[in-house]
Amino acid sequence: MVKQTHKFFGSREHHAGVRGIDIPNLLLENQDKVKIMSNTTIIGCYEDGVLTAVTGEDHYFKIKPQRVVFATGASEKFLAFPGNDLPGVYGAGAVQTLMNQYGVVPGKRVLMIGAGNIGIIVSYQLLQAGIHVAAVVEAAPNIGAYLVHASKLARGGVPILTRHTIVEAKGTDSVQSAVIAQLDEDWQVIPGTEKELEVDVVCLAVGLSPVLDLLSQIGCRRKFIPELGGDVPFRDKQLKTSIDWIYVAGDTAGVEEASVAMVEGRLAGAAAAAQLGADSTEAGKIIASCQASLDSLRRGPVGAKIRAGIAKLEGGCCNA
Ligand SMILES: Cc1cc2nc3c(=O)[nH]c(=O)nc-3n(C[C@H](O)[C@H](O)[C@H](O)COP(=O)(O)OP(=O)(O)OC[C@H]3O[C@@H](n4cnc5c(N)ncnc54)[C@H](O)[C@@H]3O)c2cc1C
Repeated sequence: MVKQTHKFFGSREHHAGVRGIDIPNLLLENQDKVKIMSNTTIIGCYEDGVLTAVTGEDHYFKIKPQRVVFATGASEKFLAFPGNDLPGVYGAGAVQTLMNQYGVVPGKRVLMIGAGNIGIIVSYQLLQAGIHVAAVVEAAPNIGAYLVHASKLARGGVPILTRHTIVEAKGTDSVQSAVIAQLDEDWQVIPGTEKELEVDVVCLAVGLSPVLDLLSQIGCRRKFIPELGGDVPFRDKQLKTSIDWIYVAGDTAGVEEASVAMVEGRLAGAAAAAQLGADSTEAGKIIASCQASLDSLRRGPVGAKIRAGIAKLEGGCCNA
């Protein structure tokens, strides 16, 4: 959230219209029961329920909670093409970190790969920072992002080329240009359609995958569901995994949006509290209202892919 300087979309109930960087403070308002340990990483998760953690550089310690909610987010996917290891090829998260956290521009002319929400929003933020965005290329036949964001970019004069991909990044010590090409219906490059663009940054925004390192370490069952970002942990409707004391929430449970992550966090927290003997009527009300909220967030054509993914998760058994 610290990188998201734009105003959120969605409904007011889920903080639409508020800048991402301001949402964490809203969530923590009047909250004195949660102890926050920043700069602390969980590095191990063991069968006896012990988690190992490190704070700062060298203070290691153990925690043995009664229940755990893993909300470790997602990591960026990468693409294979010649020149993808040249300086100047970035993931969109890195570009956001440079610009929105450190106030540093990544270069002068950018080619964005991916027209999902992230590719489109980061392109717009680049424009706002005075950077030239040469084009956004998208392999799918349609723009995946909300059209309200894509329109802002188009109005800024940035071409969004669907059914296109990057073929190569060129340069000696760093990116100096990139070759793009059109794709046919089988996602193969159409020979002769290659075009070379003069850019010094190639930014990849080609999707996210849930971060499952700790869940894999402890042996949570998982299933490969492309609609949810790849391998996702198996969980029930209350977000409990195949291990009785472990819950998941947010992008770790399946890549969606911050609004879903916030509701899922509340749901998993209430379910874990109920399992530990908290007031079951109160917990039941929270769980029911969160489930209704998730159904509404996933309604309509925008939520179709996610609904299909969740149906696969709930409908079938899962891989060990
Ligand atoms: C450019 C961009 C624009 C977006 N715009 C919107 C929008 O307008 N509206 C919307 O609803 N969504 C938006 N999203 C999506 C939204 O940001 C994510 O869905 C949301 O942040 C997921 O929340 P999360 O808590 O699951 O994961 P994250 O926000 O990724 O948080 C996970 C946290 O866990 C920490 N962590 C990971 N591993 C460990 C560990 N081992 N120990 C301790 N901590 C750990 C990480 O450091 C991180 O702080 C956008 C995303 C991007 C990239």
